[in-house]
Amino acid sequence: MASKLLGNYPPELSQEEEHYLLSNLKDWSIAHGLAVRPAPSFIQPSQDPSGVLATTAPVTVFPSLFPGSCFKEGLAIQNAYNKLYSAIARDEAWLQSIVEELLGIDDFVAKLWQTHLTVKKQGYAQDLSLGLFRSDYMVHQDPSEANPTTGLKQVEFNTIASSFGGLSSQVSALHRFLFELDAYPSSTSSIIKTEALQQSRSASLLAKGLATAHKAYVSSSANLPLCVLFIVQDPERNVFDQRHLEYALLAEHRVRSFRLPFGETLSHTRLGSDRTLLYTPPNSPSTTYEVTTVYFRAGYSPDDYPNDDDWSARLHLEKSRAIKCPSILTHLAGSKKVQQVLATPHSPHLKRFLPDEKAAARVLATFAPIYPLDNTQAGKEARKLATDPASASRYVLKPQREGGGNNIYRKAIPPFLENLPETHWPAYVLMEMIEPPPLRNAILRNGELQRGGVICELGVYGVCLWRDASGPEQKGEILESWEAGYLLRTKGDQSEEGGVAAGFGAVDSCCLV
Ligand code: ADP
Ligand code: MG
Ligand code: MG
Repeated sequence: MASKLLGNYPPELSQEEEHYLLSNLKDWSIAHGLAVRPAPSFIQPSQDPSGVLATTAPVTVFPSLFPGSCFKEGLAIQNAYNKLYSAIARDEAWLQSIVEELLGIDDFVAKLWQTHLTVKKQGYAQDLSLGLFRSDYMVHQDPSEANPTTGLKQVEFNTIASSFGGLSSQVSALHRFLFELDAYPSSTSSIIKTEALQQSRSASLLAKGLATAHKAYVSSSANLPLCVLFIVQDPERNVFDQRHLEYALLAEHRVRSFRLPFGETLSHTRLGSDRTLLYTPPNSPSTTYEVTTVYFRAGYSPDDYPNDDDWSARLHLEKSRAIKCPSILTHLAGSKKVQQVLATPHSPHLKRFLPDEKAAARVLATFAPIYPLDNTQAGKEARKLATDPASASRYVLKPQREGGGNNIYRKAIPPFLENLPETHWPAYVLMEMIEPPPLRNAILRNGELQRGGVICELGVYGVCLWRDASGPEQKGEILESWEAGYLLRTKGDQSEEGGVAAGFGAVDSCCLV
C-alpha cells in the first residue's frame, strides 16, 4: 500500500459529498440505534421533559486505518486473557495479597473487599461466575528504533461493565453501509474494501455469554419464570448500547431480561431462603422472577454508592445464588494494581495463571511498562520518575478506578503528587504512555464535524464462564470461553482521555491496512 495514499486518508470532501455522506450517516444511525440520549449541555432537560429524544452517538465518519497484524493478534490472544483473568478471580489468596496494600488508603477497594469477606463468611451460594471482559490496546510505535515496529500494547483490562459492545456492532455496520452506498469518495477505493472492513459481532456474542450463564444456572424448586437482571445507572445516556444486548438476548436466545437501577435494588429484589434472588417488576407486582444472572452496568464507581444502602445492595446481590457478572473478586481482578503486578519484569505471576508458555509469551508482549509507587526498589525509582517534570511527561498516573476521567497525565503528575500525602501514593500505578502512530479522521458529535489528528484504542471483548474453586485442592474450571468481537474508540489527539460517554471519544470501526 503506497503510504502516500494512506497519508491522504481520509480525503477532503466537497460540500456535496459531505452533505450526502452525513445525511446518510445521521439517518442510518438513528434507524439502527447507533444512538445516545442527548447530553444536558446539548439539549436542556427542560426542552425534553419526557425524555424522548435521542441523537447519533459520537462516531467517526470514516473507518480508521488499523494494522491488520495488530488487529488479528488482539483477537487471537483474547482466549488467553480470558484464562488469565478468570484464574486470577479464582485465586482469592493471591488477590488478597495484592489488595492488602490498598486497604488502608483506598476506601472503595476496602469496601469491595469487606463485602466479599462478609459473603465468604456465610459461604458463597453460587460457584459459577461470568466475565464479559474487554481488553483495551493501542498500537505502539517506538520512535527511538531505527525501523520502528508496530505492536499492540495493552491500556487496561476491564472486568466490570465493559461497555460499547452494542454500539460497536452498529458502527461497523454503519461504515460498511456507507461503503456499499458509494458514499465514500472514489479516491478511497484502494483502501476501503469489503475485506478490509471488520464487522464486530460483539452485541450478539456478549448476549450469547449472558444466555450461556442463564442456561447453566440451576433453578431453585420454586418453579418461577427466570430472568437476567441488568443493574444500571439512572439516568443512563448510553442506554441503547445496553438495549442492543437485551434485544439480542430475547431475539436470539428467548431470554427475558429486566433493567433495574442500582439504587432500587433493595426495594425490588429479595432473597429466598436458599438465597435465590427474586425480582418483582414494578409494572407487574403479581409476577416474581428468579434471577439467574446479575449483569452489572453500574457499581464500578464510588459515585454509584452515595448511601450505605448502596453497599447493602451490593452485598445483597453478591450473597445471592444468582450468577454474578462480575463477582466482587472478578471486579477486583480488573484493578490497575493487578495489571501492574502482572507486568512486573521477570515476575512469576503470569506463568502461575497462564502455564501455557506460548500463550503467556504473546500476552506478555502486549504489556507496557507499569510501576508501583510503593516502598519497593522499583517503587522508589518510579517515584523519582513521577516527581521530575522532565520524565513525568512520558507517563500517566492511574488510581484503582473505572469509567474514565480518573487519570493524571504527564506534566500534571508532579504537582498532583506534591498535594497527596506520600502514604497514599501506593494507591496509584505509573504507566508509560503508549504513543500510537499519527492518524487522521473526522468525528461527528452533536451534529458538529471535528477533523484532525486522532488516536485509536482497540477493545477486544471476551466471554468466560467458569466454576470457582470449591475447596483448598480444587482450582475450579473454565466451562466456556470465546473472543466476542471488538470495539474501536477514537479521540482527537489533543485529548488525553478517550471516554465516549465522558464526551471525549467516538465509536469507530477498523479498516485493516
Ligand atoms: P479507565 O478504566 O478509567 O477507562 P484507562 O486505563 O482506560 O482507565 O484510561 C483512560 C484513558 O486514558 C484510555 O482510554 C486512554 O485514552 C488513556 N490512557 C490510559 N493509559 C494510557 C497509556 N498508557 N498510554 C496512552 N494513553 C493512555
Ligand atoms: Mg477501565
Ligand atoms: Mg479504559
